[in-house]
Amino acid sequence: MVVQGHRTMSEELKSCPFCGEAKRLFIGQPWEGGNYRVSCQVCWCAAGGHPTQAEAITAWNTRAGEKA
Ligand SMILES: [Zn+2]
Repeated sequence: MVVQGHRTMSEELKSCPFCGEAKRLFIGQPWEGGNYRVSCQVCWCAAGGHPTQAEAITAWNTRAGEKA
């Protein structure tokens, strides 16, 4: 599924650590040539940026696992 250049990769992403959303997450580059970041389209939190999608996903999943 592709939405305006943002590849939805929710199957690889843990649910949002803030609002619990698991479906409406997307990963993309906030600007051309910028770092990748994962964002939640519900509460608009984001984890980034990182030079690769894989690193951005890892950062997001790590953050998601750090529930206080
Ligand atoms: Zn959220």
